[in-house]
Amino acid sequence: MKRAMAWVVACLFALSVTAAAETAAPKDAKAADTKAAATKDAKPRDARASDSKASVQTLKDIAVCTTKTGKAYHCEDCAVIKGKECAKTNLAEAAAAGLTPCGKCCPQQAVYCQKDDKCYHAEGCKLLKEKTAISCDEANNRELTPCAACKPPVTVYGTDTGKAYHTCKCPALAKSRVLMSVEDAAAKGLTPCGKCKPPAAPAAEPKK
Ligand SMILES: [Zn+2]
Ligand SMILES: [Zn+2]
Ligand SMILES: [Zn+2]
Repeated sequence: MKRAMAWVVACLFALSVTAAAETAAPKDAKAADTKAAATKDAKPRDARASDSKASVQTLKDIAVCTTKTGKAYHCEDCAVIKGKECAKTNLAEAAAAGLTPCGKCCPQQAVYCQKDDKCYHAEGCKLLKEKTAISCDEANNRELTPCAACKPPVTVYGTDTGKAYHTCKCPALAKSRVLMSVEDAAAKGLTPCGKCKPPAAPAAEPKK
């Protein structure tokens, strides 16, 4: 009798061990699978997020100079402020102070954009639900177009004789430059220069 009991116990023990091993193994494997899947999913997402962050130039990265009394802000090498006492600041602060870009040195301008929007806007545009301040150059790089409703400030340059308008750095402006808004340029029938690729004018509002 004692022997039989011992055999039964041994059998039960063996059975329970195999059963435990059998149930334990698949569970671990499954857990490891989901873990692997989770890290696989998470990695590319993180990488993408940091990539897009790195490429964004914020207005605080753009250095400009201001004078004590002037209402404009300038590039550091502007002839207008040469020899004058000027303070170094950045575009974010200059824009917040209500300063306008100098017409001679044409520093970067601030415009506003929002996610999944193909337009950029002036600060107070009613179409802006949330806004991210970017430079005109950044807007141009992203191939955003000026909003037709708020007409954000875009300064371009015509010449005395040419039929095109330009960005401030274009070599075509060596002889003459006429400061104007991009709408004025379009109204005058000027077309964007093919070399310097200035921003396009906002779509004209339909005439009645
Ligand atoms: Zn200037
Ligand atoms: Zn707008
Ligand atoms: Zn040009």
